[in-house]
Amino acid sequence: MNIHEYQAKQLFEKFGVASPKGIVASTAEEAGAAAREIGGPGLVVKAQVHAGGRGKGTFKNGFKGGVHVVNTPEEAQDIAGKMLGQTLVTHQTGPEGKLVSKVLIAKAVDITKEYYFAILFDRGTSSHAIIASTEGGMNIEEVAEKTPEKISKEFVNPAIGLQPYQCRKIAASLNLRGPQMNQAVKLFSALWNLYLKADCSLVEINPLAITTDGQVVALDAKFNFDDNALYRQKDVTAMRDTTEEDPREVAASEFGLNYIGLDGNIACLVNGAGLAMSTMDIIKFHGGEPANFLDVGGGATKEQVTAAFKIILGDPKVEGILVNIFGGIMDCDIIANGIIAAAKEVSLNIPLVVRLEGNNVEAGKATLAASGLKITGASDLTDAAQKIVAAVKAA
Ligand code: GDP
Ligand code: MG
Repeated sequence: MNIHEYQAKQLFEKFGVASPKGIVASTAEEAGAAAREIGGPGLVVKAQVHAGGRGKGTFKNGFKGGVHVVNTPEEAQDIAGKMLGQTLVTHQTGPEGKLVSKVLIAKAVDITKEYYFAILFDRGTSSHAIIASTEGGMNIEEVAEKTPEKISKEFVNPAIGLQPYQCRKIAASLNLRGPQMNQAVKLFSALWNLYLKADCSLVEINPLAITTDGQVVALDAKFNFDDNALYRQKDVTAMRDTTEEDPREVAASEFGLNYIGLDGNIACLVNGAGLAMSTMDIIKFHGGEPANFLDVGGGATKEQVTAAFKIILGDPKVEGILVNIFGGIMDCDIIANGIIAAAKEVSLNIPLVVRLEGNNVEAGKATLAASGLKITGASDLTDAAQKIVAAVKAA
């Protein structure tokens, strides 16, 4: 799960991370009022979308930049009016862009130098990684590619946590000295605390800035949270903005389905994440493109299967469906009934290949056969993949 920058600022406040004061606004008038409350001169207006690269982004109507530094509250109101209700395209949004329905008004600071700072979960080392760079405000992937020597890394043992010496080491790698080193150390520990307590999987501050009056502040914030920990993060969960998410994934999460939308045209409905991965692989192997990853879980109900089917069929890109179920805990007959229930609710007019195996498979196959639906049975996974790829190509 992700959150907006204005929400990240609320977490900053709670955990004592230094960051300029900001107020969120949904209309130009609210933005003007927020700007007057914060007070000029020097304000920044920032489009709130779940994507980075806003500063260099362009709105679909041609207006340039999702981050503007302005002088007066009047200007802030004017710029907010130009952003709100418009679609911002950045290198992270994809060509379709993201609709801006909120802006953040914050006190602008005068920047001496911008840095990059991030904490993330690193599976490779089974630890947390701190990544810092003197090349802030830039695309970090580009820095990593062109000047990897300008990035420093520090790994944090999860059992021990971030140690003060490590904070000093990172600050030193950014050439920070004296009072700025102290401020940076304080900011890094506060961020670490936030990262840990809020069950983040990523906290990225780009830029972390030094102001002309010598303050070290977080000027931007990108957060990812561990979805598996959300049950114990009520405050974080309340920040979820489903309008920023793939509607197919939002619908799937309501039914407890593990769904990830992809760009292909063959939908898959599978039980088990491993089997779902292999199903996508084998579709590709036989020349097709999967439209999604979907694991209905080990003990899916008829309602979940029906919901899964509806989500799949609601995707206009889908031109064929492959159901691949291995009945272990799952009863194949339940899947069969789910397919029939869904097919009755939505008109199924695209090829459907079903491979069932395992627990109660004969009953499942009989149920499907008796339904009168046009379903192609498959004897094994290869057969299933070949049949759906051929059917979609023929259609
Ligand atoms: P992003 O483009 O989505 O990553 O948004 P950022 O929040 O990082 O803003 C983009 C750039 O705007 C930053 O790298 C800064 O250079 C600039 N910026 C953001 N806030 C301020 C501010 O308070 N003062 C000044 N002078 N520049 C700012
Ligand atoms: Mg940024």
